[in-house]
Amino acid sequence: MLQQTQVATVIRYYNEWIRRFPDFAALAAASEREVLHAWQGLGYYARARNLRATAQTVMEKQGGRFPKSLDAIRNLPGVGRYTANAVATFAFNQSVPIVEANIARLLARLFNLQIPIDTSHGRETLWQRASELLPNRGAAIHNSALMDLGALVCGSRPNCVVCPVRHFCRAEKPSELPIKGARPLIRLRTEHHGFSVRGGRVLLEQSQDRWRGMWMLPRLATAPAKRKPVHISEFPFTNHRITLTVFPQTAAGHSAKSFQHWFPIDGLDSIPLPSPHRRALEMLISARSQRLCGPVTQI
Ligand code: SF4
Repeated sequence: MLQQTQVATVIRYYNEWIRRFPDFAALAAASEREVLHAWQGLGYYARARNLRATAQTVMEKQGGRFPKSLDAIRNLPGVGRYTANAVATFAFNQSVPIVEANIARLLARLFNLQIPIDTSHGRETLWQRASELLPNRGAAIHNSALMDLGALVCGSRPNCVVCPVRHFCRAEKPSELPIKGARPLIRLRTEHHGFSVRGGRVLLEQSQDRWRGMWMLPRLATAPAKRKPVHISEFPFTNHRITLTVFPQTAAGHSAKSFQHWFPIDGLDSIPLPSPHRRALEMLISARSQRLCGPVTQI
């Protein structure tokens, strides 16, 4: 949950997640819809699907107990080197290194790395350096300390005066490290969707790609000619900046296509919707109920 997301945002989700899915058995038995609904608003929905798939693997292949071996953890759905090592060190106190953003910045400065850390060579060098620092015992505390040091002292503005490891640090110009390659360009993209209401129900479409399994306003291949959108908003997605435009669609005689379904408006809280589409729907439904639909709602 904490990937690309701040702790303050995550806490509410985490507590609700644990209440709904207190153990692997509960998560494994939950439907994908329930899991996506509990995750909605956090983004990166593959993580929610992978957690559910991991719970099912633990129940079906590990007798309901989470594996301790690094290889077995690494084989779980969606688990890469960082996640596997973080679980191994923090849950089982195993002597394995971890490298996340704070530790990467700290190591680049401690070892005065003059290479871009976001290349495969740079990443391997960081993991190698993290391994070299690893103690034989107490790896969980050591890794925790590195994360905190990177987050609280050796941040984007390094506070070297109070740093407890300044005597070991080789950085000559800490504020110029780490070196990173050029960021990918942000690409602009516009997506068109329709808004149809009939008898207290709204037509939605189940996404087959970006938000697979979640429900959104039905896609339109192109913007309808000579029609104005009733909603425009923007949201980021990976290296894209997406403009969401919504056009009113006549509901008369509109039968749902495959992957489309009419949902009662007063039951939308219980279905998984990606945040940009939930916000658009809430604004459109509110405007409609106030008989204000017509002007563009823009956020
Ligand atoms: S001395 Fe400065 S640059 Fe080096 S680890 Fe500490 S805060 Fe970071």
